[in-house]
Amino acid sequence: MLVMAVNAGSSSLKYKLYKMPEEEVLCGGLAERIGHDDAIFKIKFGGNEDKQVLPIPDHKEAVRLLIEALKGHGIIKNLEDIEVVSHRVVQGGPYYSHSVVFDDSAEEKIKELIPLDPLHAPAHLIGYHAFKEYLPHALATAVFDTAYHQTMEKEDYLFPIPLEYAEKFKCRRFGAHGTSHQYLIEKAIRDYFGGKAEGTKIICCHLGSGASITAAKNGKCVATSMGLTPLGGIMMGTRCGDIDPSVCNYLADCLKVDSDAVYDILNKKSGLLGISGVSNDSRDVEEADWAGNENAHLASKLFARRTADFIGQYFVRLGGVDLIIFSAGIGENSSYFRKLILEDILEALGLDIDEKKNETYIRGKEGLISTPDSKVRVAVIPTDEEVMLARDGYKIKIKEGKL
Ligand code: AMP
Repeated sequence: MLVMAVNAGSSSLKYKLYKMPEEEVLCGGLAERIGHDDAIFKIKFGGNEDKQVLPIPDHKEAVRLLIEALKGHGIIKNLEDIEVVSHRVVQGGPYYSHSVVFDDSAEEKIKELIPLDPLHAPAHLIGYHAFKEYLPHALATAVFDTAYHQTMEKEDYLFPIPLEYAEKFKCRRFGAHGTSHQYLIEKAIRDYFGGKAEGTKIICCHLGSGASITAAKNGKCVATSMGLTPLGGIMMGTRCGDIDPSVCNYLADCLKVDSDAVYDILNKKSGLLGISGVSNDSRDVEEADWAGNENAHLASKLFARRTADFIGQYFVRLGGVDLIIFSAGIGENSSYFRKLILEDILEALGLDIDEKKNETYIRGKEGLISTPDSKVRVAVIPTDEEVMLARDGYKIKIKEGKL
């Protein structure tokens, strides 16, 4: 069975076609700069790559190009072979703790949640309709980035605001990156705990341009750092993470701007970029840091300290920790950022790190970077959100077939 995993953003559409249940990737790629005359369509298949720069006015055209490419390159014989299109949906609110069939009722719920995710939710719906038009026979499924975090208790997900507002406006912590955290935690339980989730205490650090940390007990999420939106939690590429809420009013007064303008600063001009003044990309910040740029050094240290603070908080929340996972762009590739974070938690957690392994476990190399003497194991594990989309889409299709 072929399953298409789709991640539709406001001006992009990423895709990967899987043969399931083998989890074999037949092709993958993306359309970016959708809405522009110089948009880009890329497809990679069997060691080949094709890239075109052309006008892609909307997501429908991007899907048409994809279908054309699938047939043109002989990747599939019949469109009917694609039995499932599995869509990533960032915000599932309080409604979804699992992936579901993407039908009219799911569409209604996702529409209702647009105020909680005005950036992504409309794009998900556009992507859903575009695929429905070209692959009407395929079952559409929705995989929510918030679903894995639905096991949090009230004490962990509520903000101490009037309860009435929390309930009426769904103003609470939902978290994000749940698909990635679930993939990493499930993989870690298989690889490091013999598949037995019971009794495990894991802290999972997804450190990419967006970054979040999740604490999992018995394989289930008990706490996560992102909040109502992906702005909360640890410091990120351009986002500030958790701050004193009064900063918003104070900055609005100082700068004589409205709350939207401050929100924009906290979302797009803060984090590594805001402190370093160099870039939101950890590679640029690291390079500037090595070259002696003091603000870049401060940005790196601040990023590490905020991450370490959350690891400490989750160590207490879990009543200890057996394994710390590093993943995503920074977590998988930057031994420097890992080292700074580990230095901040080393003493308290009794860690012993193999420096050579920390240096060399980059670009997809995975494994433990802690020594056998370490009180807590530390692992680098590359994440794979797309395979989770394919797995859930496949599972739902099989279940549907049995009904
Ligand atoms: P992600 O959001 O997981 O794709 O992570 C992207 C971010 O990871 C980039 O903006 C960089 O800050 C960081 N990064 C650090 N090293 C690398 C690398 N070798 N390859 C890709 N991203 C990297």
